[in-house]
Amino acid sequence: MKYIGAHVSAEGGVQNAPLNAHAIGAKAFAFFTKNQKQWFSNPLTKNSISEFRANCEKYDYKPFQILPHDSYLINLGHPEKEPLERSRAAFLDEMRRCEQLGLDRLNFHPGSHLKQIDPEECLARIAESVNIILDKTKGVIAVIENTAGQGTNLGHTFEQISYIIDRVEDKSRVGVCIDTCHAYTSGYDVKSAEGFRNTFELFEKIIGFSYLKGMHLNDSKKDFATRVDRHETLGNGFLGVDPFIPIMNDERFDNIPLILETPDETLWAGEIRKLYSLIR
Ligand SMILES: [Zn+2]
Ligand SMILES: [Zn+2]
Repeated sequence: MKYIGAHVSAEGGVQNAPLNAHAIGAKAFAFFTKNQKQWFSNPLTKNSISEFRANCEKYDYKPFQILPHDSYLINLGHPEKEPLERSRAAFLDEMRRCEQLGLDRLNFHPGSHLKQIDPEECLARIAESVNIILDKTKGVIAVIENTAGQGTNLGHTFEQISYIIDRVEDKSRVGVCIDTCHAYTSGYDVKSAEGFRNTFELFEKIIGFSYLKGMHLNDSKKDFATRVDRHETLGNGFLGVDPFIPIMNDERFDNIPLILETPDETLWAGEIRKLYSLIR
């Protein structure tokens, strides 16, 4: 079964996210559990939590259909002590919000070395951060998103993601989310049928589909291997619609949240319908 949705707004409170998802015909959704551009947000209120749960039940969203995204400020591989601590505290807070909401996964961007430490040291630091945070929480999987490799962002190769997973102690609570735009601009040719097949053969070999806990379905404003992260509406970018046909027809992408992060939210309902129509 395919669960397709979008990264919806939680403006006015997290309880609105499932309502916004339902309004566009989504069977999955992503959202921010707090303001993603601020370090601090007030704790979730009891009301907000119970309404979120009630709305998810009403519209039949189970935890495996929901993939919250962490704040863009967090860098779990930060080279300096103080900002690293701040990032870890913020990520812990977000994991706890997910626990409170009854969710089972949280999507994050691995981190950046900022040219101050070796990439490998940064990756090891990210794994250490994940271990520390998993120790203090229960039931929520830390889901590593592949990146476009912009600037000093790590996580743009399957090897780097696997390097982190290898160092996470509780393998049952670490996962991966593959973003199609990031994959393409980081240098994985998911556009051609052969390239798509090869990419996911590599993915299986280096990481493994058992770790796949979600996908971000985005077209790209930038061309292959440019290492730039600019999403585009499906069909309007360099990827086109082709790579989404195998995703819709391959059971390895079943039963996980498939999330649009495309720029024009007025088109989401149509993009979701379009994706479902690709199922043969
Ligand atoms: Zn992301
Ligand atoms: Zn993404």
